[in-house]
Amino acid sequence: MERTVFRTCPLCEATCGLEIEIVDDSVKRIRGDREHVMSAGFICPKGSTLKQLHEDPDRLRTPMIKVDGAHRPASWDEAFALIAARFNDVTEKYGRSALGIYVGNPNVHQLDNTLGLRPLIRALGTQNIFSASTVDQMPKHVSSGYMFGHPLNIPVPDLDRTDYLLMLGANPYESNGSLCTAPDFPGRLDAIKARGGKVVVVDPRRTKTAANADQWIAIRPGTDAAFLLALVNVVLQGEVDLGPAAPYIEGVAKVRTLAEPFVPEAVAGYTGVPAEVIRQVAGELVAAPSAAVYGRIGTHTVSFGTLCSWAVDVLNTVTGNLDRPGGAMFPYAAHLGTRRKGRSFSTGRWQSRVRGLPEVLGELPAATMADEIDTPGDGQIRFLITVAGNPVLTTPDSGRLDTALGGLEFMVSVDPYLNETSRRADVVLPPPSALERSHYDLSFTGLSVRDYADYSPAAFEPTGPDEFSILVKLTGIALGMGADADPDQLAAATLMSQVQEAVSNPDSVIAGRDAGEILGLLGDRPWPEKFLDLMLRLGHRGDGFGANPEGLSLARLEASPHGIDFGPLEPRLTQVLVTPSGKVELAPEAITKDLPRLVTALKLEPADDLVLIGRRQLRSANSWLHNVEVLVKGKERCTLQINPDDAARIGLSEGGTATVASMAGKLTVAVEITDDISRGVVSIPYGWGHSLEGSRLAVASARPGVNTNILTDSSQVDPLSGNAVLNGIPVTVSVG
Ligand code: SF4
Repeated sequence: MERTVFRTCPLCEATCGLEIEIVDDSVKRIRGDREHVMSAGFICPKGSTLKQLHEDPDRLRTPMIKVDGAHRPASWDEAFALIAARFNDVTEKYGRSALGIYVGNPNVHQLDNTLGLRPLIRALGTQNIFSASTVDQMPKHVSSGYMFGHPLNIPVPDLDRTDYLLMLGANPYESNGSLCTAPDFPGRLDAIKARGGKVVVVDPRRTKTAANADQWIAIRPGTDAAFLLALVNVVLQGEVDLGPAAPYIEGVAKVRTLAEPFVPEAVAGYTGVPAEVIRQVAGELVAAPSAAVYGRIGTHTVSFGTLCSWAVDVLNTVTGNLDRPGGAMFPYAAHLGTRRKGRSFSTGRWQSRVRGLPEVLGELPAATMADEIDTPGDGQIRFLITVAGNPVLTTPDSGRLDTALGGLEFMVSVDPYLNETSRRADVVLPPPSALERSHYDLSFTGLSVRDYADYSPAAFEPTGPDEFSILVKLTGIALGMGADADPDQLAAATLMSQVQEAVSNPDSVIAGRDAGEILGLLGDRPWPEKFLDLMLRLGHRGDGFGANPEGLSLARLEASPHGIDFGPLEPRLTQVLVTPSGKVELAPEAITKDLPRLVTALKLEPADDLVLIGRRQLRSANSWLHNVEVLVKGKERCTLQINPDDAARIGLSEGGTATVASMAGKLTVAVEITDDISRGVVSIPYGWGHSLEGSRLAVASARPGVNTNILTDSSQVDPLSGNAVLNGIPVTVSVG
């Protein structure tokens, strides 16, 4: 039997629509959904590999239990019984402070996980919470929290209407975009140029994005904050027009004072960007009819990550481009209601045990996870859960972390693979494949360059429990209910409490209604769909369970397999702002207190060392797509890129090998000589290094590459966000 299903791709933040042709129980073809309201048929090489991922013989279909150092298949009952028993042992012996959890990036791409993780984390009752956010985008949450009042109030560049785009540390030709959901990001960049606009890319490498831009500005790694503040300095020397957001902005005069040390001539030596280029860009930003500044991972994974992220939005604001078409705007996901003013955003509500690093968004820096596992004492992590994460490849100083994981008393991984991290687990619980699960994007609809919504049902029935049930079962165990914890009972209780909260809220559209009636209206669906339907119907576009009959519901999304487009972003600053002042706080003390450190750095002589940066690759997604043959075949891609002048000085030759050493470690890697990288900078891509014994990744281990996180230093973090420093690592390179 032949059928066609439509599915959102969960592999990256672009969230493209896919059209999947299925014959009997097998995928015949996957291509872009030409009618999808956002992606209109666009697809990258990864999108069609949902078939290979689904069929991958290495993908686990049953739980695995480690016995005498080797994993063997087990039943779900056996796996959960062992977890419950060991959970009780550890918590009785050491208390809950001995528990820890690490949550990887794919969780934000899955409905089940987004819904199921928060209750699990709460039930664990530990402060040892870590996630991929602190090796990625935590600086943006911190700057948004302090400037706009909420860590998820993140403005995105209005790509489809802007006249001028300044991008730093972003390579959407390879990454397809991040913290800015825009299927066919490259096409949207080309459209800016086609309508007479300008695209400027700031990056130490002439990335594919830089090569296709109107202007590439090479910058020294880690210095973007100073470059941005020099732009702010120049802009604030002239006449300032804050645009329509002007009544809602405070702190411009303070920013002008704070930016005084960053005159272009003072930062030129530090950043490597000539003063006249800084003045040119500042002039163009001011003169453009509309402009947007966008900084991404290269600006976040540095020691001034939060200052960079803050300076991006300061620049958007002082050029009059905040919250206006063509500028930096706030998406409004359909499932969200009105954001209510709550407690002021703050960080550092507690500190990590070993290094005293501040909590941010309820979690601790991933860079200190190994400290918390291998340092003895009260609060040492003895029982760790990882969910869809591979920190052994993706967090700094990963060699030490790998050893530390081996010393845990018990470890559980929820993961489809025995990868470099889950190979350390005592129990591995495999979730269904992407094609066996439904999807609505709770995260990235809130970062989209147009407001839209789509929903896709599972293409195939899962052969085991869905991931929501797995996480709820673990929640029950964490609540002390043992292996008999009933996920249905827990999910029902959670849903009921959410409905009761809504009917008791006088501001809710269903205030005063009967909770039982509302539950009945959610119908007979799987639990994640019930939670989703509740959110959609109470969201700002929702049908309010009859209050707005034309409004949105899950049923309406189900009837729209290509999604619903709600149109371009609209100005909504007054809805967004939940700061104590009710205004954009342009110069929050919690951020600006870090400026003296940057002023000091300006005066330091640049070291002679080479510095290491990472790089994104179109056929890769962090660490987990290297077991797909079609994505890794061809020429070696895990190489050390080095400028011809540096290569000649060291004596390296194309295709030879180099030894790269840092304070943290040493590795040997194939050499690729290219003038696409600035002198003084070398680059190794992120997420490789599949050569560790005990993993089960046949394709990946045949082309392992090297783990660049052997070289990164876990002692280096952005002090405001705890984000790891993965770029700008001093290294020495020799013929190896
Ligand atoms: S760009 Fe991202 S969402 Fe689109 S097909 Fe590729 S991996 Fe999937």
